[in-house]
Amino acid sequence: MIWYPYQQMKTMKEPYKIIDAEGVYLKTAKGEMIDSISSWWSVIHGYKHPVLTQAIKLQADTFCHVMLGGLTHEPVQRLADKLQSFLPGDLDYSFFSDSGSVAVEVALKMALQYYVNRGEMERTKVLSLTHAYHGDTFKTMEVGDDEDYHFILEAYGEKKDVLHVPTQIPDLEQAFEAHHRELNCFIVEPLLQGAGGMRMYDISFLVKARELCDRYGVLLIFDEVATGFGRTGNRFVADLVQPDILVLGKALTGGYIGHAVTVANRKVYRGFYSDDPDKALMHGPTFMGNALACSVALKSIEVFEQEDYMAKIRRIEQITRREMAGFTDPRVKEVRIMGGCVCVEVKDAAVLKGYQQFACERGVFSRPFLNCMYAMVPYIISEEELVRVLNTMKEWFS
Ligand SMILES: *Cc1c(COP(=O)(O)O)cnc(C)c1O
Repeated sequence: MIWYPYQQMKTMKEPYKIIDAEGVYLKTAKGEMIDSISSWWSVIHGYKHPVLTQAIKLQADTFCHVMLGGLTHEPVQRLADKLQSFLPGDLDYSFFSDSGSVAVEVALKMALQYYVNRGEMERTKVLSLTHAYHGDTFKTMEVGDDEDYHFILEAYGEKKDVLHVPTQIPDLEQAFEAHHRELNCFIVEPLLQGAGGMRMYDISFLVKARELCDRYGVLLIFDEVATGFGRTGNRFVADLVQPDILVLGKALTGGYIGHAVTVANRKVYRGFYSDDPDKALMHGPTFMGNALACSVALKSIEVFEQEDYMAKIRRIEQITRREMAGFTDPRVKEVRIMGGCVCVEVKDAAVLKGYQQFACERGVFSRPFLNCMYAMVPYIISEEELVRVLNTMKEWFS
């Protein structure tokens, strides 16, 4: 018996059974649907991409996995080298893990221990955004601000070590002024807050965040698990403002296998580099640096570069802006577009009830949540397919 995610098992409707998938299409026994959300924002090259699939097959013929404790291998070394040259500045030190949530846990542990290693024991607090989402494990729920999780946190006490700020510069300045002595890091989903409701905000907020973190000696963490690899129209938001620690997941492997990475800059890495064994980072997920995941991630990045994916994403944004221009409805609160993400926020979540079925009948797989109907398509989508996705969204209101 499968226990499905985010679902009341008693009342959930039957999920669609996928028997094949290729390009932007998910195939069921009844027909095919465009996957308008890229399997939770990860399948950026579409399904059954020949280059990525071949990379997995080749590696599987050699070995699928060896542990990274005391062992190393070419796929993980090549991926770490690739990330070092692909990522901006001195974000050079890659710590791999098996999922985005774990990679965020690692980032927070790094930030906390960075100050412990320096003997600054009073820096115990984490600053994060209101409506933040950083994963489903306990510490990530704690730094997150999702109402669905509050009950579980209340059950084990207050969030004493986490402060939340909205994405407004005056609030940020105030939070730093009041708490900078006890802050160890500021963690953000940069520019686009995904699971918190596809909220978009301005880069000036992150420029200010960098400035305040530098002034007060606080580490800045970008959780780009969702935004990384082009989703915001930037390769990484870290290209615009550099964090001290960067977390990547979801699209890292082109959505082929769960894998994630926590990338530290030189300053953070040096905070652990010592003759003292107590200053080492004590973490090691069993499947970190999995050889299949690293092989396919490497190919994913190569394809991303060689086939100019940033141009593909600009095209997706242009078509989306063109198609959504002038779209209004009294039930719609706002239409937001950024890079490869479009969100139609409705005033009342009840408006979206039945949309998934409606979209499915028109050959589009969609999964609205909160007040959001949205699309985050695979970047290889054709203009015609993208227009079909956007028309389906608009037609729901007509
Ligand atoms: C999805 C997501 C995570 C969690 O990643 P998992 O691989 O599901 O654990 C963390 N942070 C952000 C911003 C995400 O979108």
